[in-house]
Amino acid sequence: MSPAMTAIHRRPPADTPSGWMPPSELAVIGSDPAPAQADWAVVGAGFTGLAAARRLAELNPDKRVVLIDAMPVGWGASGRNAGFVIDLPHKFDLDGDDAGRMRRVVRLNRAALADLQRQVEAGAIDCDWSPVGKLQAAIADTGLKGMRTFARILDSLDEPYRLLSREDLHRITGTRHYAGAIHTPGCVLMNPARLVRGLARTLPANVTVLDGCPVSAIAAEGSSHLISLRRRGVPIRIRAGRVIAAMNAYTSEFGWLRDRMVPIATFASLSAPLDDAQMAIFGGQTDWGLTPADAGGTTLRMTRDRRLLVRNRFDYLGAFGASDRTLDRVRDSHRLALRRRWPELADLAFESTWGGVCALSRNRVSYFGQMAPGVWGSNTHNGVGVARGTISGRLLAEAACGHDSDLLADMQAVSGQPVRNPPRPFVGLGVKTRLRYEAWKSRKEI
Ligand SMILES: Cc1cc2nc3c(=O)[nH]c(=O)nc-3n(C[C@H](O)[C@H](O)[C@H](O)COP(=O)(O)OP(=O)(O)OC[C@H]3O[C@@H](n4cnc5c(N)ncnc54)[C@H](O)[C@@H]3O)c2cc1C
Repeated sequence: MSPAMTAIHRRPPADTPSGWMPPSELAVIGSDPAPAQADWAVVGAGFTGLAAARRLAELNPDKRVVLIDAMPVGWGASGRNAGFVIDLPHKFDLDGDDAGRMRRVVRLNRAALADLQRQVEAGAIDCDWSPVGKLQAAIADTGLKGMRTFARILDSLDEPYRLLSREDLHRITGTRHYAGAIHTPGCVLMNPARLVRGLARTLPANVTVLDGCPVSAIAAEGSSHLISLRRRGVPIRIRAGRVIAAMNAYTSEFGWLRDRMVPIATFASLSAPLDDAQMAIFGGQTDWGLTPADAGGTTLRMTRDRRLLVRNRFDYLGAFGASDRTLDRVRDSHRLALRRRWPELADLAFESTWGGVCALSRNRVSYFGQMAPGVWGSNTHNGVGVARGTISGRLLAEAACGHDSDLLADMQAVSGQPVRNPPRPFVGLGVKTRLRYEAWKSRKEI
């Protein structure tokens, strides 16, 4: 892998905040002075960077770790996703019929879940952590096909599940829109912004959090790295022995995995809490989450505090931020999804609609490993990075400190090298065309 490290052109946008937390509460967390030197720098404070910083600090209690993010913790994809911590293979991890690989994915995801649960309990993190499992539901033929595949995979892995009928789903979700679903018990639902901010606030004392500090360059100098960033608008530099690159979709801005990542946005909307009259019309229960059996469909949640979340649509985001026009179209699409499921709630307004950027690879492979001398990274989690990012971050720290384990072997076995993209104008066109085709195929599940 190329060790090139250049000044970056694009950094995370100050785009529309998510609905998971009032923007006034999404302030910068880190208030300690920035050290001139650190043993380790972790760049990116999403699930990957938070887990890496925690593990580095635990393994090296006498060493200094700095955790840097361009935005306040909770602003990036990790704080603006749909809040499913998924234990089982999901999306691309369901492709193929390699049961051995899928078992490794399950072991990794479950280790992440156990880590997060421990941290939520130890740190008393108030994030609506809810081990209610997940519905994987189908509306029409493509969804039902996806459900059959999922059931076959669960059988081959000996994983427990429950098949739900249209009427069962009506009792839970208040809609008869779905033909059926598979309930699996291991998934946890949570409020992602509150979880990541809680994780950042409960890091070991030898981690200095520097959020709201965009990094503009990481340059190798001898055996260390010079990190250039801005803090409160003032340019500063930190010399770090070693670096963990946890910038996910932005990694290629720094020269690593250049032209191998595909930045894809997906979008969510959250309603205001339903009042008693709206709850009566809704007719379902609170605290459930549903993902589409056809990956191109719509994700739904009814939160504990009676808010409906809708997530659907994918867009190629060459420029990372979503325009107001895109968000208007997304809001319409989310309203339509609500109307189809609960026609009597057609007037229910969304309090917020937002997008977030993930990284995919064209060969659907996630990257994990050493990217350059003294630099480790994990990214391209293909849109399901809560569990995968968490365990990647921990294992990156362990690998970089020379620790070996069965879990590390699992991670290495399920990771690989993302293939190169076609030249710039073609990758955008190609991905957009493919996304339109996939959306058309999944139209009945949206
Ligand atoms: C709407 C939506 C719904 C989703 N739902 C789910 C879900 O339910 N379950 C699930 O598992 N996954 C979900 N995902 C995907 C998941 O959010 C991501 O895979 C995961 O957050 C990736 O974590 P990460 O730590 O690797 O990267 P990120 O969370 O993207 O973190 C990277 C960080 O790097 C920082 N950074 C980038 N450039 C710089 C720079 N120059 N200087 C300093 N910092 C920088 C960014 O600000 C960012 O905070 C969803 C994504 C979206 C957008």
